[in-house]
Amino acid sequence: LPIVALVGRPNVGKSTIFNRIIKSRVAIVEDEPGVTRDRIYSKAEWMGHEFILIDTGGITLDSGEIDEQIKAQAEIAIDEADVIVMLGDVTNHLTSMDETIAKMLYRTKKPVILAVNKADNPEQRNDIYDFYSLGFGDPIPVSGSHGTGVGDLLDTIVAQFGDKANQHEDDAIRFSVIGRPNVGKSSLVNAILGEQRVIVADMEGTTRDAIDTSFNHNGQKYTIVDTAGIRRRGKVYEKTEKYSVLRAVSAIENSDITLLVLDASTGIREQDKHVAGYAHDAGRGVIIVVNKWDLPEKDSSSMKDFEDTIRREFQYLDYAPIIFVSAKTGKRVPDILNLVDKVYHNQNRRIQSSVLNDLLLEATRITPTPLVNGKRLRIYYMTQVATNPPTFIVFVNDPELLHFSYKRFLINQLRQNFDFTGTPIKILARKRK
Ligand code: GDP
Repeated sequence: LPIVALVGRPNVGKSTIFNRIIKSRVAIVEDEPGVTRDRIYSKAEWMGHEFILIDTGGITLDSGEIDEQIKAQAEIAIDEADVIVMLGDVTNHLTSMDETIAKMLYRTKKPVILAVNKADNPEQRNDIYDFYSLGFGDPIPVSGSHGTGVGDLLDTIVAQFGDKANQHEDDAIRFSVIGRPNVGKSSLVNAILGEQRVIVADMEGTTRDAIDTSFNHNGQKYTIVDTAGIRRRGKVYEKTEKYSVLRAVSAIENSDITLLVLDASTGIREQDKHVAGYAHDAGRGVIIVVNKWDLPEKDSSSMKDFEDTIRREFQYLDYAPIIFVSAKTGKRVPDILNLVDKVYHNQNRRIQSSVLNDLLLEATRITPTPLVNGKRLRIYYMTQVATNPPTFIVFVNDPELLHFSYKRFLINQLRQNFDFTGTPIKILARKRK
């Protein structure tokens, strides 16, 4: 998905505009208890175009003067975004800090859109002409508090999107490796690549500096998404947690399957849960890789114990298989690709409607559909409408009656009858006409 970054000095109203835009956010997966999210970036949608919106103001360094904070934010926008929106504030006119930000943005070849906030009335909308001097073309007057102009801004943003959607047309299985710092992502990528002949380690076709690495294995092509984000360390902001989550979100969005790496020697930490929540949100395949399995003192039950802990902490990832590896010794590293193959196969599995409806009949016999306020849910027909993730539509008398728990029951029935290991399953209810 294209990434759009909002930059601007403090108090211009970045968060207000951010919230206005993500009102239309696409709920790919329903909100479920226990999923930790971080709202400085979100999926958004306008006129059928989906994108990721970042409020760079939410990514603050642990320390540093305001100037450094703003510099880091502008750099994140320059490094990560496909389209940059610089926000000004008409009530304060053009300030020297706006000019400083603009100077930093001149370095980028990416499209920069200038929006001027707090233009709440016609008079203020006339005041935005100061901002022409920044050289980013016509400023767009917006009002975060009234919502005016936000549609025009969105039109201008989506008009800048290139042909990103059709970028990955080869038949490679794309996977990303994510996790908090030091769990061993980089070591793991090296261990996987160690046995492979890397065919390309090229820059992606877009302006972003993501580097994907491709290789062939047993006649299948694989692409590890954003190996640059895994290996790179250096700039100050890259050490902040929110930045690394952002990088992970973008890698997940560009993959079929995500390897969520945990560290056996430290156990599960809060930060692991943030990363896991995003892996789940994206609706892609997920494999949980417990790395550094050479370190823990083992008795016969330790693998089982760790697995139980994972299942308890990440209940919403109950579909993800768990594999215990050591990037250091290479133990079970080759099994990772086998598991990737398997999950890829599962997320592209298609079930015939006749088979689904036999299953539905049997399922509703075991567990009758719920009675909600005296009205019984009736399910007439079920059909698969998409793969990756497998998506099913059930035609019902009233979609409101299909509650989370019965949906969950149907998903479990699907899982018991077909191998959907590693992939989420979506069920949508439609009223039968
Ligand atoms: P990243 O930040 O997730 O990319 O983590 P790195 O790959 O840089 O690894 C962090 C540290 O853990 C390094 O000191 C690695 O040598 C070490 N490490 C990585 N994998 C393993 C492993 O399987 N076993 C052990 N004992 N150490 C590991």
